[in-house]
Amino acid sequence: MTDRIKRDFYARDKEEQAEFLKMTWCNTCMKEDLGMTNPQEYEIQGKIFIDGKCKKCNDVVTTEMAFDDEE
Ligand SMILES: [Zn+2]
Repeated sequence: MTDRIKRDFYARDKEEQAEFLKMTWCNTCMKEDLGMTNPQEYEIQGKIFIDGKCKKCNDVVTTEMAFDDEE
């Protein structure tokens, strides 16, 4: 079971948003940085992901956010 916690992507500052929308990897196009639209941010087991749609092919692209988080 995975708990998916919804987060607010638009709560980030504008520059950060722009960066995440640009820095993508699309498995369908096999290309990076094509960009995404319709971002949805969520958290699973302490990891944060952003789902969006590839600007080129409209498939789902997922970005995992990396943190240097030491607990
Ligand atoms: Zn694509």
